[in-house]
Amino acid sequence: MLNPIIEADKIKKIEELTRVANNIVITCHLAPDGDALGSSMALYHVLAAMGKKVHVVTPDQVPVSLMFIPGVKEAVAATRHEDFSRQLFREADLIFCLDFNAPYRIDRLQSALESSKAPLILIDHHLNPEVKADVIVSRPEISSTCMLLFRVICQLGWFRLVDKKVASCIYTGMMTDTGNFSYNSQDPDLYIVIAELLRRGIDKDALYKKAFNTKTINQLKINGYAIAERTYFYPEHGAALMVLDKDDLEKYDYQPGLTEGLVNVPLSVPEIKYVVFLRQADGYVKVSTRSEGDIPVNEMCSKYFNGGGHKNAAGGEFYGTMEEAVKTFEKAMADFDKYFKE
Ligand code: 5GP
Ligand code: MN
Repeated sequence: MLNPIIEADKIKKIEELTRVANNIVITCHLAPDGDALGSSMALYHVLAAMGKKVHVVTPDQVPVSLMFIPGVKEAVAATRHEDFSRQLFREADLIFCLDFNAPYRIDRLQSALESSKAPLILIDHHLNPEVKADVIVSRPEISSTCMLLFRVICQLGWFRLVDKKVASCIYTGMMTDTGNFSYNSQDPDLYIVIAELLRRGIDKDALYKKAFNTKTINQLKINGYAIAERTYFYPEHGAALMVLDKDDLEKYDYQPGLTEGLVNVPLSVPEIKYVVFLRQADGYVKVSTRSEGDIPVNEMCSKYFNGGGHKNAAGGEFYGTMEEAVKTFEKAMADFDKYFKE
């Protein structure tokens, strides 16, 4: 079926560390998305089926839009249960870090992770892993952590533990990190895995509807408003800018996850090659970017917005006012004209 792609010594180490562990913590990045939560919950169910005591600890809350992921309501959010989260890290005898590359990506849990004495296993697909883990399975060429985790599970001989719940979690991350298999989706193995997940009973179409096509009234309205009134097109630079400031967010009762996916919309205009979305957050401006082809928005995020990410999907944080963030975008856009010169 699938060729083993992960080094045998790493698989062996994961197997050994898991076999002797009884108190396992799984954690993932801030503002968890379908891949972070899908992979965390998939592994949670697999380890629980082995009889392990296991907790998923997230830096902040699960967005309402992802509550359909099987078991995700059991996840412990550090924003709500800070002391308990820290206690779980302290008591853990094994920690899995899924879908993030650097300790700061787990925000308030960073110190809990770094002071833990438990062995760490990192399974991730972001560039440049910086987590000091005992086992690092880092594969940026793989489109989702869920896909990577599935391969780890198969190589560990745990495939028999992949039931409908686990399969649904894995499919969710594979689907959300590829825009329902519309980008980073050329790997033929993806479709082999999907076939296996279908055989485990997933309802693929229902998961699509839940992940991509279920919106609240406010969500529809804020998305429509953002596109109609707050998107600025610069076709001569191949760019679009979307801005939602404090007033905009208050008007539509903004909740985390409400603008998920919005940043992709301007890319449907052929002249637009990249999009920068600026959203007012608590004490900073959250930056989210998307691009097509060879436009490296991760470079823009690391150079101008204290962030990073993938070539075509990156993000960061801007510490300053929205006006300053917009000015910084204009500077970055002039810089990025170099990618349009022949
Ligand atoms: P999104 O726009 O969906 O929030 O993030 C897209 C990608 O950008 C993420 O998968 C992550 O790799 C990267 N990213 C988002 N926010 C940040 C950030 O604040 N810092 C860094 N380094 N990367 C980010
Ligand atoms: Mn991911």
